[in-house]
Amino acid sequence: MIEMSEVYKTYPNGVLAINGLDIMINQGEFVYVVGPSGAGKSTFIKMMYREEKPSSGKIIINGVDLSKLKENKVPMLRRSIGVVFQDFKLLPKLTVFENVAFALEVIGENQKNIKKRVLDVLDLVQLKHKARFFPNELSGGEQQRVSIARSIVNNPAVMIADEPTGNLDPDTSWEIMHLFEEINNRGTTIVMATHNREIVNTLKKRVIAVEDGKIVRDEARGEYGLYD
Ligand code: ADP
Ligand code: ADP
Repeated sequence: MIEMSEVYKTYPNGVLAINGLDIMINQGEFVYVVGPSGAGKSTFIKMMYREEKPSSGKIIINGVDLSKLKENKVPMLRRSIGVVFQDFKLLPKLTVFENVAFALEVIGENQKNIKKRVLDVLDLVQLKHKARFFPNELSGGEQQRVSIARSIVNNPAVMIADEPTGNLDPDTSWEIMHLFEEINNRGTTIVMATHNREIVNTLKKRVIAVEDGKIVRDEARGEYGLYD
């Protein structure tokens, strides 16, 4: 569950990025976040995994009040949230297997469990056969599938994606969306900021539209709207 109430965020340079935001997202929902550039979409989702802190207001993620979260508990929060980026952010010197295994290594999981879990998620994204490849040996779509495998390897309750199809061609974008649907069907909440009008209008989900740091529209099975 994701809950925000009366959230404001002003960056140190004085920009008011989030201007009084209230939202409730239940476990298992699939939500698109849409809106023009600079509307505050990224800031909104970065606050969910504590990449940014609100200036004021309350944020509760999976029952944890982030304002009361000690710095040393932030890694634990991040483990309950998988994050996928537009530019993949894979580690270039690690293989596909190692990129996905990394999150399990840092929590001290044993090698046998790591191997099983990594190969299971690589199977889900259909990249088991490329486990020994390096990121620069993969297509953009394959790299995004690796980053999705990495994001779910800890079985997070929530997956957050910031423009995950922004660097991909239309066919590859659809493959990625079908993977997100499969992950959502297993019970994972998905919050996805996107500029992809065709996907939003075809694969109907809840749509939260953000403009000038505020939610201006929140519809079940909504439309993309008038942005480019
Ligand atoms: P969106 O994702 O909808 O494009 P952002 O959340 O990235 O919007 O940005 C919202 C506003 O906050 C914009 O005016 C942007 O320039 C500003 N902003 C974003 N990140 C920072 C930052 N790190 N420092 C200062 N201003 C920022
Ligand atoms: P299976 O027998 O279940 O198909 P494998 O053990 O053959 O799986 O491994 C599938 C892929 O993952 C292979 O490319 C393998 O080399 C790679 N792999 C398995 N374990 C590791 C590991 N610990 N580090 C790096 N790559 C690994």
